[in-house]
Amino acid sequence: MPDQGKFDVIVVGAGFSGVYQLIRLREEGFKVHLLEAGAGLGGIWHWNCYPGARVDTHCEIYQFSRNELWSGWDWKERFPGWEEMRAYFDYVGEKLDVLKDVSLNSRVSKAKFNEVSNFWDLMTEDRRYLKTKFLIICTGFASKPFIPNIENQDAFKGEAHHTALWPQNGVDFSGKRIGVVGTGASGIQVAQEASKVAKNLTVFQRTPNMYLPMGQQKYTPDDNKRMKAELPERFRRRQECFGGFDFDFIPVSGASVTDAEREETYERLWKAGGFHFWLGTYHDVFTNESVNRTAYEFWKKKTRERIQDKELAEKLAPTDPPHPYAVKRPSLEQWYFEIFNYKNTDLVSLMEEPILRMSDNGIITSKKEYKFDVVVYATGFDAVTGGLTALDISDTDGIKLGERWSAGVKTYLGLATSKFPNMLMSYGPQAPTGFCNGPSSAEYQGECIIELLSFIRDKEFVRFEVEEIYEENWRSKIRELADQTLFPKADSWYMGANIPGKTREMLMYPGGLPKYLEEFRNCAD
Ligand code: FAD
Repeated sequence: MPDQGKFDVIVVGAGFSGVYQLIRLREEGFKVHLLEAGAGLGGIWHWNCYPGARVDTHCEIYQFSRNELWSGWDWKERFPGWEEMRAYFDYVGEKLDVLKDVSLNSRVSKAKFNEVSNFWDLMTEDRRYLKTKFLIICTGFASKPFIPNIENQDAFKGEAHHTALWPQNGVDFSGKRIGVVGTGASGIQVAQEASKVAKNLTVFQRTPNMYLPMGQQKYTPDDNKRMKAELPERFRRRQECFGGFDFDFIPVSGASVTDAEREETYERLWKAGGFHFWLGTYHDVFTNESVNRTAYEFWKKKTRERIQDKELAEKLAPTDPPHPYAVKRPSLEQWYFEIFNYKNTDLVSLMEEPILRMSDNGIITSKKEYKFDVVVYATGFDAVTGGLTALDISDTDGIKLGERWSAGVKTYLGLATSKFPNMLMSYGPQAPTGFCNGPSSAEYQGECIIELLSFIRDKEFVRFEVEEIYEENWRSKIRELADQTLFPKADSWYMGANIPGKTREMLMYPGGLPKYLEEFRNCAD
């Protein structure tokens, strides 16, 4: 291969994780380069530019914790939209001169470890060849969009887009007939926007989703000033909290309090907005079925108050939950339930009326044909592992990563996988990832990577590798932890269950960020 660059470290992906690695490794004196498939920094915020795309962690902690960055940046909204996130990444890029070590529009298409040189050989889609001693994959949990295989899909003559592959110059919904397939975070965000301008909007729902009120707020310069005074403490708190947030579970059982006390707590959490009613509630909400049910009943009561039509209420907030409360990641909504009170908006429950196929005009269900100008696939991702297994990357036996993991993911600490020497992953499987605030994971797990690489460099080792026994133990630990919870009871992307044929297993480390960091500390020591 012609050599077009030789590095200590190559980082793949320019979201929070990759940018953090680049900045920190550069500071530690590594010769580092970053390859990013997209045309800008920001990771998912580059790709997800659909109408309404918005953060669901409050901005205070959905940013880097470096003083020189937050001190010079003011947020406009508590939950910023994609435009603001992009502007933030532009700011970070400029402030820290990130781009001088980044190749944009450079998708890594192939990676192979050279057993003789102990270097990785990398090839990009545009046929650049690079060599690196260490490879850090930061492809995120949402870089492989999933579109379900619907019969006759190509027949549709209108526009069809997945939310994460949205045209960068936008799609005009005004006066058009819009169909939205999927009702996770992206689906409801698009639907909220489309309902305002579309001629008509039809939302196709498979499973009712337990949306929480976002509690959006505009932030003034004074709000930002107040926020900045609190930030050092908020950032410090993250390492102590299960989800890397600045708040944590209530350390008492939801079963040990009176009904009135519980109701009062739930009211408070509900009013706080964001994820408080998820990761700030009683600690046993995910382990005790009856406590979980009280949370569901509260959620149902609050939600039904907002839906006028009784039949619709049953579809959106059923009498009995389809799965335990919030074992699928809840999405945050602003005016989602109200859109069904508008004349132009309808909900189709796919449980009652499954999609049979597409037609030239739109979508045919078991009941009728729905005609659209635009179909939006808000159908999520081959989450967590998809970005990794999409890479043409082989182990030292020549077996592709996707094949090695076909019967289940194998890693140690979610950081490394056997037979892939000198390779590490950030925000990948078997780590806190989907249970953790993204930037917190980028920084805390990121520091684990930096500590490991610095150690290896200082000891002048040329190669490191995980032994399979450690992977087996880590996998068992994750299974045991998951089995103590209600998470396996839902077909969620946490469980790999949203993708046909994917192994059903807990893809995250479900012990929380503090315990994860303890596990790393034990290993490092
Ligand atoms: P990403 O941001 O996903 O970045 C990965 C990058 O890798 C992408 O830019 C991609 O182009 C690049 N890449 C992939 N494959 C290749 C390749 N072969 N070659 C080169 N580059 C490649 N998390 C939260 O904590 N709070 C939130 O509010 C939140 N909101 C979200 C909203 C949406 C719409 C989505 C999709 C996810 C959200 N997440 C949220 C999760 C989010 O993934 C993390 O917050 C965070 O962005 C993860 O950063 P990352 O750097 O690990 O990965």
